[in-house]
Amino acid sequence: MTTAATIPHALGDATLGELEQGLRGQLVRPGDDEYDEARAIWNGAHDRRPAAIVRCAGVADVMRAVDFARSENAIVAVRGGGHSLPGHSTCDDGIVIDLSGMTAVRVDPVRRTAVAEGGCTWADFDHETQAFGLAVTGGLVSSTGIAGFTLGGGIGWLMRHVGLTCDNLIAADVVTADGQLVHTSEDENPELLWALRGGGGNFGIATSLDFRLHPVGPMLLAGPIFFAGDRAEEVLRFYRDWVRELPDELTTLANLTTAPPAPFLPEAVHGKPIIAIVAVHAGEPEHGRTLVAPLKALGDPVADLIDVMPYTAMQSLLDALWTPGAHNYMRSAYVDELSDEAIAATVARHRAVPSPTSEIHFHHFGGAVARGGDEAAFGDRSAQFVLNVIARSADAEGFDDNVAWARGTEQALAPVSRDGAYVNFMGDAGDKRLRASYGDAKYERLVALKRRYDPTNLFRLNQNITP
Ligand SMILES: Cc1cc2nc3c(=O)[nH]c(=O)nc-3n(C[C@H](O)[C@H](O)[C@H](O)COP(=O)(O)OP(=O)(O)OC[C@H]3O[C@@H](n4cnc5c(N)ncnc54)[C@H](O)[C@@H]3O)c2cc1C
Repeated sequence: MTTAATIPHALGDATLGELEQGLRGQLVRPGDDEYDEARAIWNGAHDRRPAAIVRCAGVADVMRAVDFARSENAIVAVRGGGHSLPGHSTCDDGIVIDLSGMTAVRVDPVRRTAVAEGGCTWADFDHETQAFGLAVTGGLVSSTGIAGFTLGGGIGWLMRHVGLTCDNLIAADVVTADGQLVHTSEDENPELLWALRGGGGNFGIATSLDFRLHPVGPMLLAGPIFFAGDRAEEVLRFYRDWVRELPDELTTLANLTTAPPAPFLPEAVHGKPIIAIVAVHAGEPEHGRTLVAPLKALGDPVADLIDVMPYTAMQSLLDALWTPGAHNYMRSAYVDELSDEAIAATVARHRAVPSPTSEIHFHHFGGAVARGGDEAAFGDRSAQFVLNVIARSADAEGFDDNVAWARGTEQALAPVSRDGAYVNFMGDAGDKRLRASYGDAKYERLVALKRRYDPTNLFRLNQNITP
């Protein structure tokens, strides 16, 4: 039961009732049984109370919701998979346009393409494409949404082999701020496609996205190998040197964390610092084995789970560690060179981590990522590593300490970092950092396109390009 008094905004019952009548999907308001479930996003640090959540059933609902929000001058949050770290997919008092019910995927195995609705997660997408032995670079956690992920860039296990996800975006349907549906491809409105390849959710709501696919798996060599935390410096130095010569088929990550109480790790290390190197080889598994042999030869691992497995198993391997509801915050940077000093600083910061769920990642960039360029709005591709510092605690208790630790860790690596960062890993960016992330020329081009497609900045809850 909804009453006008429970709606914390000028958007009263009568106005929202009109919106509701024009929908095929559902309108959820304060007081409705589903309200708390519908307003929750993955990052529990953002506890917001929207005036309404439009659970869209299709493109018509998205157009209707955009028209409504514009005419009512309401704040708009757009939700795909709900994994925004800074909480951009929810808001107080405004309208959440929620696409999470729109999850259809159609694969064309002959042309090796897939068209997916804007609410799909990577679990939805990989399930359909792997039935044909095809894939595109997807997220490390399968519950992440394809839309926010792709529009910001998309880094994952196939990136060095086939590029960022946005490099494989070949067309899209977008509801723009005027409520119109615009198709974009390399032949039709190509400037909009360019902007969607990394420019984030600034230009409208992608109701469907078309991807180029690649033969991958279904079985491949993949998984993590864990070493004791007191070997972190040795392992990171090896990692830095080893990845320099790796072929593009192998994408890897170094992860300084705390051993979770997981059955695949010996009880003796549970709760202790640990370093994992995760590797995914997109080619022949036996070739992959020869490539990871030097890593395994480091010897005496705490656990070695690198083996042949289905691609979809690798895509969901980390899911259990990244469940929704906890408080999360991220700091990120591009790192040029992991000097001995930078490695020592990283390890010292890791030893000071306030919570067992906060951790440090170095994603190895390069390969097909570095070969991409002007075809996409995505900014700097030339760094060797993407640093990602994740502050995570079960709830608000102790969260501020973790946030301060993440900031301090990023600062400790400032001597080897650049000004910009990967926009999907940014917490509170700010205009200067955002501009640096795209570079001046691309940033100005994005501003011009923002003026064309969203002159009033209706879509402003994102890493915002102000018009
Ligand atoms: C557990 C976890 C793991 C992650 N792993 C990776 C990873 O491996 N690689 C990586 O690159 N990133 C990763 N990320 C970051 C992720 O790419 C971003 O958080 C991304 O925004 C998530 O997309 P979403 O659709 O789930 O998010 P949402 O919270 O739904 O949306 C985030 C923003 O994206 C935009 N958006 C969403 N849907 C649409 C749409 N249909 N049309 C237009 N704009 C839209 C909006 O601006 C929205 O505010 C991870 C995040 C989490 C929480």
